[in-house]
Amino acid sequence: MSTPPAQRKPATATRLVRRSPSSGAQRVAADICVIGSGAAGISAALEAARLGSKVVLVDSLPQLGGQAVNSIIGTFCGLYSNGLDCYQTVHGIADGILRDLGALSGALHFRRTAHTTVVMYDEVALSRWIEEAVRKAGITVLLGGVMREVHMNGRRIERLEIATRYGDVSLSARGFVDASGDAALAWLAGLPCREAADGPIYGTQMVVLENVDEAHHPEREDMTQRLATKGLASGLTRIQGFSFLFQGRGTALVNLTHVETPLEPLEASRLALEGKAQADTVVAYLKAEYPKAFAGARVRNYGFPGIRQTRWIAGRQQITADEVRQGVKYPDAIARTSWPIELHDTPQGYVWEQFGDDHMHYVPFGSLVSPDADNYVAAGRCIDGDTAALSSVRVMGPCIAMGAAAANALDLAGDGSVHQLDMAELTKRVRDNVEGRG
Ligand SMILES: Cc1cc2nc3c(=O)[nH]c(=O)nc-3n(C[C@H](O)[C@H](O)[C@H](O)COP(=O)(O)OP(=O)(O)OC[C@H]3O[C@@H](n4cnc5c(N)ncnc54)[C@H](O)[C@@H]3O)c2cc1C
Repeated sequence: MSTPPAQRKPATATRLVRRSPSSGAQRVAADICVIGSGAAGISAALEAARLGSKVVLVDSLPQLGGQAVNSIIGTFCGLYSNGLDCYQTVHGIADGILRDLGALSGALHFRRTAHTTVVMYDEVALSRWIEEAVRKAGITVLLGGVMREVHMNGRRIERLEIATRYGDVSLSARGFVDASGDAALAWLAGLPCREAADGPIYGTQMVVLENVDEAHHPEREDMTQRLATKGLASGLTRIQGFSFLFQGRGTALVNLTHVETPLEPLEASRLALEGKAQADTVVAYLKAEYPKAFAGARVRNYGFPGIRQTRWIAGRQQITADEVRQGVKYPDAIARTSWPIELHDTPQGYVWEQFGDDHMHYVPFGSLVSPDADNYVAAGRCIDGDTAALSSVRVMGPCIAMGAAAANALDLAGDGSVHQLDMAELTKRVRDNVEGRG
């Protein structure tokens, strides 16, 4: 029989505390500051640390991983080229994620079709991979940190004022990566930005269902057909979408809502709740339409609102949809993908412009930099493209490649300008993400 713990009296002492009127922001200095910890920001921060920089990684959420983790995107797209004879097009942290999650039971699932290969992942496993990689790299993390002000000195960003629930932080750095998805750093710095001119690009409230009967999960074609004929009458907003089965786990990832994602605080919050209501309608539809697969299913997680395209930088160069279609290989290419143009521009559906097996398109470094700033590089879904072009390069594969390029560019720029880089050296450093079938 074990001995019960010794009885102790509970502590009762308290002390009086009061905020000092002089308590200013805590000052933090780094070589490289990365704003945003999604696929692009994590890649940038880990690459900058690997290059020997002192890195601070800031995210407004209290959790790393951006949308990949918190919106439960659940599938890496753009890591492989098209077709059955495909090859990996992005390396760097993609190699580590594929290796380490691949070694865990049930953490990765490759979905291969004649057109493309995507990789489904367990978001909890990815979240822990990111946290451990960041911790081991010695990166300083500032979670729950929202930028309030950006101080420029001429063409250089000098300092950010950041608010957290625990107090303010004043963060200075030599170089800045804007991986905020919404070009939040560029916007606050007064740098030129873009938005879609022809109406909103819709986001999605993702849902993970558990206890799905795998044997009866509907085929994609059947789901597409029924959604087209019955979706609107069943109260769905979006009728082009899907449920992907994560085989072996009895879970399905449902991507079947379309919600606007404005950058206005009250509307953004209201629509986040609307997204959940839409998701519930979708779950009810799936249960009614496919009872054998979904009758016993429950929502395991809703995720945070999934945001596709909001505001992005007006860069030195803008990728165009025609360049994407033609596969233009820019001299300063730093990333590649063969992912389709995937523009979510109506409530009901999206444009899906697929490319052939040999197709590849590229991201030029010029689309990551602002003409008006010397120590700023964007990465991820807020680089410069026209609305359609951006929809094809914002998937997570190329976002990872862009993050690595941003870190290398700032490393090469040192105290100089990202507009006067040794481009031959930059393209050499990121060659694996642009060339080769490896
Ligand atoms: C519903 C949906 C489904 C998708 N499906 C796929 C898919 O299957 N496969 C795929 O590869 N891609 C998919 N995409 C696209 C892809 O998920 C995103 O484009 C990609 O994850 C973007 O990564 P990112 O690093 O650029 O930005 P994000 O992941 O959006 O990260 C940005 C981070 O910046 C932080 N941030 C923002 N503003 C501030 C601020 N002011 N201060 C501090 N921090 C800030 C945010 O909290 C966030 O964590 C999908 C997108 C959506 C919305």
